[in-house]
Amino acid sequence: MGTSLDRSIKTNQPEPLLGKSLSELTIWVQQQGQPAYRGKQLYQWIYQKGARSLLDISVFPKQWREAIGARPLGRSSLHYLSTAPDRTRKYLLRLADGLIIETVGIPTAKRLTVCVSSQVGCPMACDFCATGKGGFTRNLQSHEIVDQVLTVQEDFQQRVSNVVFMGMGEPLLNIKEVVAAVKCLNEDVGIGQRSLTISTVGIPGKIRQLAQYKLQATLAVSLHASNQKLREQLIPSANRYSLGSLLEECREYVSKTGRRVSFEYILLAGVNDLPENAHQLAKHLRGFQTHVNLIPYNPIDEVDYQRPDKQRIKAFTEILQEKHIAVSVRYSRGLEADAACGQLRASQTR
Ligand code: SAH
Repeated sequence: MGTSLDRSIKTNQPEPLLGKSLSELTIWVQQQGQPAYRGKQLYQWIYQKGARSLLDISVFPKQWREAIGARPLGRSSLHYLSTAPDRTRKYLLRLADGLIIETVGIPTAKRLTVCVSSQVGCPMACDFCATGKGGFTRNLQSHEIVDQVLTVQEDFQQRVSNVVFMGMGEPLLNIKEVVAAVKCLNEDVGIGQRSLTISTVGIPGKIRQLAQYKLQATLAVSLHASNQKLREQLIPSANRYSLGSLLEECREYVSKTGRRVSFEYILLAGVNDLPENAHQLAKHLRGFQTHVNLIPYNPIDEVDYQRPDKQRIKAFTEILQEKHIAVSVRYSRGLEADAACGQLRASQTR
């Protein structure tokens, strides 16, 4: 990434050190009257050695460590952890102001994927989403996003290979902090940008704004419907954003960044999973170099949509394939741990 980004965050608290680059940390140690090489040490302890507090950094002189020890690094604390039989681990993390967010660690044979939150709650109020039912509290700061990835990495004692912004919140309502987090995860935590996926329900003008950063991260768009009327029924905010405008911004994103956009399509039995929906969807995506991820609905308490049966899912998939659209079915992992979509927070903080 060519452009340098101001990662500073304005609050009354001293800025957390997590989220800062090597050069920013080096400046900070020098401001404390320490030699520059302490910046490198601090950087390694924050991003590789799992320091949770400045007091942990045993290579620092004791007297200095104690003098600066109260300054927050910016790490969260664990509020609750549950593990599903498929080894998916779901974390409720407590932020510095006491608010709780969800993070999920999803291991597969070769990968460790982290599903991060970008906001506390979410204002989008999508009808099928547990987070949306709980309302919105605030945006996360970039270090609070990076902390989620480090927390999972340290817990699994395994390098995180992929990060998806598919936890709580709408990332494109928090672009500045999300982009700063992407930059830090890439440069400081060492995760390839192409292994980072930003998922959005689509906000007018925001995909265009994101394109300007020319990230190599993957953009996933939660489409969920094959026509405008159905989309408005499932996603209230869609009434201010036509399907045509959303797809147009996606096309611009592809031409500006050279990256593909993938589409998420939740499957709700009898609502958006009919053969005619598959045909409509294929029509919209004609000429798009894309990948469609079908997500069979993961039931939540508040609404009674149903997950379609295997045959319906297969039929929908085959229609898209006949139209030469690359398609995968993505079952939510860790359902036993309430691990999908805002459910654990709902069940543990009621
Ligand atoms: N706000 C962003 C990212 C968070 S949601 C977005 O909308 O893309 C991440 C994905 O989980 C989205 O595709 C979302 O629609 C999907 N999702 C939400 N609730 C779900 C549920 N109950 N079952 C299956 N997928 C769900």
